[in-house]
This record gives sequence, C-alpha cells and structure tokens, in this order.
Amino acid sequence: MLEIKDLHVHYGVIHALKGVSMQVEQGEIVALIGANGAGKTTLLHAISAIQKKSGGEILFEGTSLNKANAKKIVEMGITQVPEGRRIFSGLSVYENLLMGAFLRKDKEGIRQDLQNVYERFPILGKRSAQDASTLSGGEQQMLAMGRALMARPKILLLDEPSMGLAPILVKEIFRIIQEINKQGTTILLVEQNARMALAVCDRAYVMETGNIVLSGSGEELSRSEQIQKAYLGG
Ligand code: ATP
Repeated sequence: MLEIKDLHVHYGVIHALKGVSMQVEQGEIVALIGANGAGKTTLLHAISAIQKKSGGEILFEGTSLNKANAKKIVEMGITQVPEGRRIFSGLSVYENLLMGAFLRKDKEGIRQDLQNVYERFPILGKRSAQDASTLSGGEQQMLAMGRALMARPKILLLDEPSMGLAPILVKEIFRIIQEINKQGTTILLVEQNARMALAVCDRAYVMETGNIVLSGSGEELSRSEQIQKAYLGG
C-alpha cells in the first residue's frame, strides 16, 4: 500500500534520512521505533509532504507521491496525527472534529463519521461543545485521532500517540489503535514506547540516526536481545 524507496531528507547540512526503504501493506499495523532524533517524525513529514525530500521515492497504492502536495496526499487517503496533538484551542471539540473533514463535501458521510467518532470516543461526545484546550492530555490525543478519522483515511500515520500519557491511558490509546485497524484502517505508528508498539504491531522497523537498522514481526523484535538491551530496558 505504502512503499518508501531510498528516501533522503536534509535539513541544511544535516542528513536526517539516509536512504530509508520500508513498506506498509494494506490492513497492517506497522511500528517505527527508535531513539530521540533518529528521524521518525521526519519520515512521517516526508510522507505527508510537509517536509521536502532530497532523494528517493514514496509510492501509495502504486502511485508516486513525488509531485503531490500535502492537500493532495490527504485526498488520496493518508492522514497524519501529529506529535503533540496540535488541536485548535479556541475552537470546540465539535469544531476541531469538523476541521478534519475540511476537504470533504459529502455532508451525509461527514455526519455519519462524526457519529462514528462519538461512538468510538464517548468522552468527545460529552465534551463536544467544550473548548478543546480544556481537555486532558488523553482526551486531546483522542480528539487528534478522531479529527484524523474525519478525513476517512485509508492509512493513519500516528506520531507518538502515547507521549506524556499516564500508563492506563497509554493502554487505552493502544487498544483504540487496534480497534481502528480492525475496522479497516491501515496504521503506521511512530513510538518511543517500544514495548507497547511491538505488542500491538504486525511488523516493525527500528531506526537509528537516519537509517533502518532492523525489521521484523513485533514478536521477533520483542525477543531480540539487541532490542531488549537498547529499547526494552532488559
Ligand atoms: P523525536 O522522537 O525526538 O521527534 P525523531 O526520531 O522523530 O525524534 P526527527 O524529529 O525526525 O527525529 O529528527 C531527526 C534529525 O533531524 C535530528 O537530528 C533533528 O535534530 C533533526 N531535525 C529535525 N527537524 C529539524 C529542523 N526543522 N531543522 C533542522 N534539523 C532538524
């Protein structure tokens, strides 16, 4: 579904991605783990065309994204949930959710998807009229995910969804990610919480300083001594 071939990104003289290749198949949850600064966010930004590539190619359903802008990429079915949620304060929960559907014109479909989001995240229904900035961290993550679902994505790119959340909420967010996936949305998940990411994913890639250094099934990587030492504290 998503194929990344020999991708390079530079920030001035900093070579942040040094020839990254990876794939995500339809229906999978694929995790991308790695330390701070490894290049995970940069990879998501390159897919979303927020960040310019300096080399390589990204294909989505067989079509090159090289000439697509950020808007076109959302229209094609790729939606990113940014690190730090980036919800719109001063707007209500409901208005934030509608922002996720800003490229759509199918009013009935939007109404239906709003209902679906309220069913998946009942707390957002209860707080729909409330200013989004008054939500807790976990609720804001749910809002960011609900807003992304309002674009009816084929693939959801999640950047550190568990960041800053209490352990019980981390579990809840990962449970919801699995549920969204079961209902047909493919997931590319960037996480520093390697333990949880490897537990829920089908496959994972490990990134270090701009390169993919290891890949395998979640189970294989959880058992790998190298991964246990570097990422699982064991
Ligand atoms: P984190 O989990 O901390 O977000 P990451 O794995 O997502 O880490 P990136 O944010 O993609 O890593 O950063 C990769 C490298 O590129 C780092 O060395 C970072 O300092 C650098 N970098 C990222 N954004 C910029 C920028 N806008 N300008 C210059 N350098 C940047």
